[in-house]
Amino acid sequence: MARIVMKFGGTSMAGMERIRNVAARVKHVVDQGNEVAVVVSAMAGETDRLVGFCREASPLYDPAEYDVVVASGEQVTSGLLAMTLKAMGVDARSWLGWQLPIRTIETHAKARIERIETDALVAAMQSGQVAVIPGFQGMMADNRIATLGRGGSDTSAVAVAAAVKADRCDIYTDVNGVYTTDPRIVSRARKLNMVTYEEMLELASVGSKVLQTRSVALAMKEKVRVQVLSSFDSPDQTDLPGTLIVGEQEIEDSDMERQLITGIAADKNDAKIIVTRVPDKPGAVASIFTPLAEASINVDMIIQNDSKDKEETDVTFTVPRADLARSVDILEARKESIGFRRIITDSEIAKISVVGVGMRSHAGVAAIMFKTLADRGINIEAISTSEIKVSVLIDEDETELAVRVLHSAYGLDAAEAA
Ligand code: ASP
Ligand code: MG
Repeated sequence: MARIVMKFGGTSMAGMERIRNVAARVKHVVDQGNEVAVVVSAMAGETDRLVGFCREASPLYDPAEYDVVVASGEQVTSGLLAMTLKAMGVDARSWLGWQLPIRTIETHAKARIERIETDALVAAMQSGQVAVIPGFQGMMADNRIATLGRGGSDTSAVAVAAAVKADRCDIYTDVNGVYTTDPRIVSRARKLNMVTYEEMLELASVGSKVLQTRSVALAMKEKVRVQVLSSFDSPDQTDLPGTLIVGEQEIEDSDMERQLITGIAADKNDAKIIVTRVPDKPGAVASIFTPLAEASINVDMIIQNDSKDKEETDVTFTVPRADLARSVDILEARKESIGFRRIITDSEIAKISVVGVGMRSHAGVAAIMFKTLADRGINIEAISTSEIKVSVLIDEDETELAVRVLHSAYGLDAAEAA
């Protein structure tokens, strides 16, 4: 017997037929003798619809009332799932965010979970009753309803799992796990049996959006074992493992055959900015990046060449594409004080990252990447590294080719095309 939190996303909850499938899956886990809590999303598209109403009601809507509106999507699905379970003979009840309660702090529309009261919840689970909890919602100190920010029900599920000390948090979604790379780009991509929290965070931040990044960070902090699996696999496949997201030790203990590189991600959401002929003196770089930071623009890769004449240098960096125009405006407005010559931008770029905890203890990972890309004539425009990641910036048109050749070069291709 184990204590398991199951989480179902919006596509799994879209309509009564799918909710009946979810209920059957929950029943299967209950029948095996486990204690179960289920966290649900709103039906797919519902939260967007509700956000639309808020915008229509008032372009400058009150975030506290926005939360009242958008939290309703999950209230509907949690009630429907509890009803459906009961109709199947499984004892169940819904526990809304304010009933547990799930205490939240900071701001409406992007609240953070501070604490979850679990006495009643655990007692109910121990008595064999399935607890159905709406994701995405909680309650502020003033007892007003709050929501966690879009995609927040993954974070709700991990927080509930941490609070009830679950053995595992199973996140059912529309993919059956985390892959070595996007299977739509590389048909030989393999499903990973296990991935570390840190790798998952790096892969998520560079574009594999399987889980909300915050939920992975929370799982790492609270040591919650997370499993990603598909709610669309046929029920007799339920026992097939998805991808486990766990600490490094658990992987070392169970998977001797680990590859050096775990995954490769491509991200086309950034744009490149080159600020030319910046004075090479203390404070110059700060004068570029401080105003961008003050505008909450997230700068990613940065390179600054050592200037030959020790007087001027070019500074190259990336920002989210959506912030490109704003970034240029901010810098142009300070042209005099920063003292640069001109700004060159390029939004047709891609960031390709190879990720793996194995590179901590192995030299040469970056060299393989550079050589593999060079052999295909792919030019590298910028490079950045972390302890477990090497990223390069290349021309957007070469994304697919780059991912494919790197996937082979690091020995990640499945034996046969999927
Ligand atoms: N329903 C919310 C959203 O669409 C939360 C979630 O599904 O994770 O953002
Ligand atoms: Mg989601």
